[in-house]
Amino acid sequence: MEERIRTITERWGYEEIRTPTFERAELFTLKSGQEILKEMYEFEDKSGRHLALRPELTAPVIRLYLNALKMSPKPTKVYYFGNCFRYEEPQKARYREFWQFGTEIIGTDTAEAQAELIALAFTILTALGIEAELHVGHVGLIREVLREKPLTEEEINTVMRLIDKDQRDAVIALLTERNVTRQDIDKLLYLIDLTGRDALQEALDRELITAASAAVRELEQLLEILGYYGIPYILNLGIARGLDYYTGMVFEIYEAGGKLGAQNQLCGGGSYRLAALFGGDDVPSTGFAFGFDRLAEIYTVPAAALTRQRVIVVPVRRDPADREVVREAIRIASLLRAFVPTHIDLMTRSISAQLKYANALSSSFAVMVGTDELREGVVTLRNLSTGEQERLSVEACVARIKNYCNLFELADKPAYKPEVREEA
Ligand code: AMP
Repeated sequence: MEERIRTITERWGYEEIRTPTFERAELFTLKSGQEILKEMYEFEDKSGRHLALRPELTAPVIRLYLNALKMSPKPTKVYYFGNCFRYEEPQKARYREFWQFGTEIIGTDTAEAQAELIALAFTILTALGIEAELHVGHVGLIREVLREKPLTEEEINTVMRLIDKDQRDAVIALLTERNVTRQDIDKLLYLIDLTGRDALQEALDRELITAASAAVRELEQLLEILGYYGIPYILNLGIARGLDYYTGMVFEIYEAGGKLGAQNQLCGGGSYRLAALFGGDDVPSTGFAFGFDRLAEIYTVPAAALTRQRVIVVPVRRDPADREVVREAIRIASLLRAFVPTHIDLMTRSISAQLKYANALSSSFAVMVGTDELREGVVTLRNLSTGEQERLSVEACVARIKNYCNLFELADKPAYKPEVREEA
């Protein structure tokens, strides 16, 4: 699964970037506020530095970009695959240590860049055979509405987090306390519930948002280019994303086959500005992150990959001190290891014990080398699934196994064709 995702992402022109597992805690609190500390594994090291195990990789990637990649050609397109840590209640598909696979386009957040990332995320899921539902929105819509209310930027961020967690009662309580009228609160709640093709039009018709809004224009441009990619999407004006640094387009992809239960969000992403916050120039960026564990949970491993090819080379010793057959067995194993996982006896076991081990590993072939074979320059090749065996030269044996493995490779890796689905 990892290999497939990497291959596709590299074909789209992204290069891998790796960052350390821990960072200064400040990197994560700078924009998200002290609240985020509750959700992190944070600690003081022996010199009193306040550190945290990374809860996500966007902030570390931007930090690394500012330290080392600022001079790289723009846009800078990178991807990462790494473990993340969050101090939250574990449940199905929600863990305290989990893996994210993500990408960032640094240096631009044009509609083209946003559409490319959304299309890439969707293409990866299609290639993995995962049924997914893509929701696209824009945090600017809700933020613009909230900015017209008597709220501080900090309070707006809190409301966005509450909306993200679907804690509506808390949203109503906070806005009521800030003297926002019930009618305005209802309009906001109506806006965040809007989904579907006509969501934007309905929001405009009901005057929940205004046509002059920059967010509306950006979203319209994005949807047009997404159309060029043929990616089916659902407009969802309620996507808030928990982290405060999202500035524009946001998207989430959910598993659509009902296999994950409540934690069915596979991917989240959007446009953001973090660099200025970390002391660099203001660099617009766009990124997404997949929850790799969730993909693994629902991914159906192709049958061919399950029965991965393995070979065992069996030295048939006359006595434990028989070195000649061991030497020949090692020579043959080295030839096979150029293209197929190959085992060789490491415990001076009997033939039957070695074949039992081969079975336990679901090996496809055993290559047996004894004194007689050695003398004649042949080996005995046994097909472990059928029990058939034959004597043939070492060269012919290696060629036979290689041929078989190649056929298998082709069957396992069909040419990738993006499957364009009907629009939802
Ligand atoms: P986020 O950085 O919160 O946008 O998360 C991106 C993706 O990571 C989500 O869509 C999930 O698929 C996955 N994810 C987030 N938190 C967890 C967790 N605790 N355990 C497993 N996967 C997670």
